[in-house]
Amino acid sequence: MKKKPLPQRVRDQVQERDGLRCVRCGMSLVIQPRHVHHRLPRSGGGEHVLSNLILLCAKCHATVHNSPRQAREDGYIVSRYADSASRVPLWYAQAHQVSVRSRVGWHVIGDDGQLAAWRKT
Ligand SMILES: [Zn+2]
Repeated sequence: MKKKPLPQRVRDQVQERDGLRCVRCGMSLVIQPRHVHHRLPRSGGGEHVLSNLILLCAKCHATVHNSPRQAREDGYIVSRYADSASRVPLWYAQAHQVSVRSRVGWHVIGDDGQLAAWRKT
């Protein structure tokens, strides 16, 4: 079965929401390559919806896939048994972007793409 490519419109929405920065390390991706990562992998049924997509730098994208156990703890990888990525909190680390400093911490992303702070228990 051929997979549908990520629509440009959705890609644009992810980039805008994440402020053109890597969610995991906060690096600016204005010039650096931008990787749109599927939290629930496409092979596991992950879809092109905003709650399932985050912007990563190339290095973090590789780290996430090479360290799946840690990535699951941090919410960058969602188990295929989770009912929705929108319920799985993830760690936002955009520490050095002043305008979104309030984002640093745990968040959930709704299917509308909006972030909500989340307190990890
Ligand atoms: Zn990064």
